[in-house]
Amino acid sequence: MATQGFTTGIVHSDKTFGVEHGGVHKPIHTSVQYGFDTVEDLIGVFQGTLKGAYNYARQGTPTTAALEAKITRMEDGLGSICFATGMAAISAVFLTLLRAGDHLLASKFVFGNTNSIFGTLRDLGIEVTTVDATDAAKVAAAIQPNTRMVFVETIANPGTQVPDLGGIGSLCADRGLVYVVDNTITSPLLFRPKTVNASLVVNSLTKTIAGHGSAMGGAVTDTGIFDWSKYPNMFAAYRKGDACQWGLTQIRKKGLRDMGASMSSEHAHSISVGAETLALRVGQSSATALQLAKFLERHPAVVRVHYPMLESHPQHRLATKYFAAGSWLLSFELRDAAGCLAFVNRLRIPIKATGLGDTRTLIIPVAPTIFWEAGAAVRAEMGISDGMIRLSVGLEDPADLLADFAQALG
Ligand SMILES: *Cc1c(COP(=O)(O)O)cnc(C)c1O
Repeated sequence: MATQGFTTGIVHSDKTFGVEHGGVHKPIHTSVQYGFDTVEDLIGVFQGTLKGAYNYARQGTPTTAALEAKITRMEDGLGSICFATGMAAISAVFLTLLRAGDHLLASKFVFGNTNSIFGTLRDLGIEVTTVDATDAAKVAAAIQPNTRMVFVETIANPGTQVPDLGGIGSLCADRGLVYVVDNTITSPLLFRPKTVNASLVVNSLTKTIAGHGSAMGGAVTDTGIFDWSKYPNMFAAYRKGDACQWGLTQIRKKGLRDMGASMSSEHAHSISVGAETLALRVGQSSATALQLAKFLERHPAVVRVHYPMLESHPQHRLATKYFAAGSWLLSFELRDAAGCLAFVNRLRIPIKATGLGDTRTLIIPVAPTIFWEAGAAVRAEMGISDGMIRLSVGLEDPADLLADFAQALG
């Protein structure tokens, strides 16, 4: 089965567990409680001796489990856990695996809310430093005796910086560090973090995996590479049985059961339906994004375009080495930064909205919106200029988008 193509595997993955009454699609299980024939079975669920049974929907339902299996298959992982949002998945990883006195080393090019949670972690006594992860030597130089975890995004939102994914993976393997890769922008279609030694992969399912902008979700996938028996922060209760499951068990029990940012079956279903067309959508939106990036780069009104598949991109070599395509995310800066808001208003097709990975093209000026709270100093440190515009390319016909940009740049 592992030799099947990407989409074949995903559209048939429900069958792995059997689908009730032969339904071709996994049903939406709305029950919160799950009953048992004997009280011994009920006790077995709590004590972990009855495997594969559902108990209470905060820890998962048959419908969320079917989505978890799809994500695991996409990432070629050991197992996955779904959460209500991408941020819930990311914060669960940090809060369940790090303790006061530990050090988290993160790329300085990350999603704004991820950068914001670094501040929360610092208040809890977890040291966080950020580093230019496009250079593995800089990451190596920033490792401390108390470093436990390294966190990067494959293509940083919104600046599109690409870390030295393989170099950092080797480093984490040598030093026994948990390597967490946020694969949201590339998705498992364009890149599998397991190939560079990632321990855990996080995906915001809200974006391109769902792809329709109608449901929120996040997932953590364990690639099976990290040896949890050597990790000091495992709770005694979860140091049981096969050590390869310890990480997932701790994240599910502490991050999902105790913190409670659980995904509903309705959303799991909606995301699953979207996930089945991932390859079709990302193939097209990436091709359109490359066309637009090339058009913008040639246009005299545009001073800079950030897109990993342009030769002018500082990490172009890394991007072509790791990614099958450049994704649907690009950002750019106008020569006349002060005119950037008027330009956005002149566009007719892109929707002025935050968010990523929708069927519709979305556009947003970055500094006055998603990076406003961060402040000017943080923006400068992250390479976000006042005139930067972020674009999430959708499924519109490329010629229509190109014509619209041409008229708006005028
Ligand atoms: C959107 C996003 C997240 C957060 O996902 P939500 O589902 O919106 O909570 C995390 N990382 C990256 C790179 C994102 O773009």
